[in-house]
Amino acid sequence: MDGQAVADIKRCDIGPLILLGPPGAGKGTQAKKIAEVYSIPQISTGDILRANVSAGTELGKKAKAIMESGELVPDSLVCDMVAARLVEPDCARGFILDGFPRTVTQAEWLDGFLQSKLFENQPCAKVPPIVIEFAVDYNSLLRRLTGRRSCPTCGRIYNVYYQAPRVADTCDVDGTKLVTRKDDDEQVISERLKAYERQTLPLTEYYRGKGRLRVIDGDREMDAVTAETLETLEHGNRL
Ligand code: AMP
Repeated sequence: MDGQAVADIKRCDIGPLILLGPPGAGKGTQAKKIAEVYSIPQISTGDILRANVSAGTELGKKAKAIMESGELVPDSLVCDMVAARLVEPDCARGFILDGFPRTVTQAEWLDGFLQSKLFENQPCAKVPPIVIEFAVDYNSLLRRLTGRRSCPTCGRIYNVYYQAPRVADTCDVDGTKLVTRKDDDEQVISERLKAYERQTLPLTEYYRGKGRLRVIDGDREMDAVTAETLETLEHGNRL
């Protein structure tokens, strides 16, 4: 993409972008890249929930045990949290939803919210959502999740199998000791993948039925997946 093309994209309202795919499919990693190119925020419901758990808020207290078991937090709690986030000024041109919606109920709620009075003042309110699913093989997911480490300071994600830091367990950027998420434990991973199959997989049919779903093979080098994702967005129906 040349400089002019990037500048043109940055002026457009690109609207809601929804990333689907099982835990470990690379939604968070791709969301960070897209956020950088399009200058729109990445909204990760998992990150917001984890921040609430760390801060000990009422929401965090309700979500903590559910998250540690690998189950999904109730729709009403998550939808209220997302509603409050989407009306913030940095979502004016668009935003990337990473980890939301996760159930058909959440998807139906989101459709209603994007059409509602609460959202109509956001400049991108008229732009229809684009939905991308990252498809990844089950065994690759297990390696990605068991190998995942992240930096608690800058949020950078590593993988001991595919993208190891230069010094073991240490962030390349700021030297912080890397951590493993509590729910990346093998027992919890299996629960999270079951929750995905039961509650989130039906979402792909929901969006396919609306003609909005684009599927990208996420079982490749990260840069190849990023290139196809950006191309899909460029040729999407809104730019
Ligand atoms: P993630 O970081 O997206 O893998 O999310 C971590 C955990 O947060 C999940 O296993 C759920 O317990 C909870 N969570 C995140 N997003 C949602 C959502 N949209 N609906 C319900 N629970 C969620």
